[in-house]
Amino acid sequence: MKPLSKKVAAIVPSATIEISNRAKKMQREGIDVISLSIGEPDFDTPKHIRDACIDALNRGETHYAPSNGIPELLSAISEKITGENKFACKPDQVIVTCGAKDAIYEGMEAILNPGDEVLLLTPAWVSYEPCVQMAGGKIVKHAVNQKTFQLDDSLLERVNANTKMIVVNSPSNPSGAVFDKKSMNLIADLCQDHDLYAMSDEIYEKLIYGKDHISLASIGDMAHRTITINGFSKAYAMTGWRLGYAIAPKEIINEMSKVQQHSVSQATTFAMWGAVAALKGDQHCVEEMRTEFNRRRIYVMKELSRMGYETAPADGAFYAFVKVAGDDMAIATRWLEKGHVAATPGSAFDAPGWIRLSYAASMDRLKEAMERIRKAGGN
Ligand code: PMP
Repeated sequence: MKPLSKKVAAIVPSATIEISNRAKKMQREGIDVISLSIGEPDFDTPKHIRDACIDALNRGETHYAPSNGIPELLSAISEKITGENKFACKPDQVIVTCGAKDAIYEGMEAILNPGDEVLLLTPAWVSYEPCVQMAGGKIVKHAVNQKTFQLDDSLLERVNANTKMIVVNSPSNPSGAVFDKKSMNLIADLCQDHDLYAMSDEIYEKLIYGKDHISLASIGDMAHRTITINGFSKAYAMTGWRLGYAIAPKEIINEMSKVQQHSVSQATTFAMWGAVAALKGDQHCVEEMRTEFNRRRIYVMKELSRMGYETAPADGAFYAFVKVAGDDMAIATRWLEKGHVAATPGSAFDAPGWIRLSYAASMDRLKEAMERIRKAGGN
């Protein structure tokens, strides 16, 4: 047989999935594993959102919809962005995708040519690099400051004539860090000075504890060069609905739309009606989930500090990023095999020596997990 695609062969499978598969195997064998390795809220989708989707199904919203999304959802998103995120957005600057991940992939396809370089701030979520690779681009990594998790001028050293885009993710998965105004301005200046595009993944914008979310596109002329990524998975506990979206200048959306039309066609029609309810409905559900995440965050951070662990500033998302003494893969394996706690080694995010713990689990499970980690050691 002729060899399969070199492009895909070069992509490594997601290490976050690898460890959770091992944990699932242990669970199937009857072992009580506490899984703190996967990035999804443990809440169910709020009822009014589910009801809106069921209503849509029952009234026959089961057909193809416009590829970029139903007009009601495009308007709801454009209103949300203009009002909350503080930059102008018309409905034709929006595309609804099958999860934020799909928006990221389509955005990379729309911007990149072979050999174009993309600056990735590390630690970084696992899927940016493969999306860049699939679109033919080349990743150039730049580590944020390992104490503050903010940026400084050293970022400038990574830019050259081939640099085309920077990927920004604040609040960050995996570190939970939130970029402050200084870091965001630095990114904006860099893009403006070197004529770069930016992809700003703001999917955790609603999960911030005591800091303000800044949309990159709201700074200076950034709206003209930024693809803002967002979605429903984290804010509304809708991971399985596969609904995300991107906001960008119309010319970029038109290119993303071509990728969408010839691949997934559109997001699921009746699911999009649920998303309209999510954006238009009462936002209390978002605040309730955030408050509960915050309670768990305070508990987990206190326990980790009591055990002597250094951590990244957990200002956003639902992750504690823990510095460990030694090889993160070996320690995560020890936590899994000895402590029966599944966590994700930082190497998966280009941050060796760190481990990511998701606190999207019940308080009882988190208490048990902290006790098990204490016994298994690693600090
Ligand atoms: N961006 C980040 C930073 C994420 O953590 C995730 C989900 N883990 C996504 C995007 C993808 O989200 P979705 O479920 O909308 O595809």
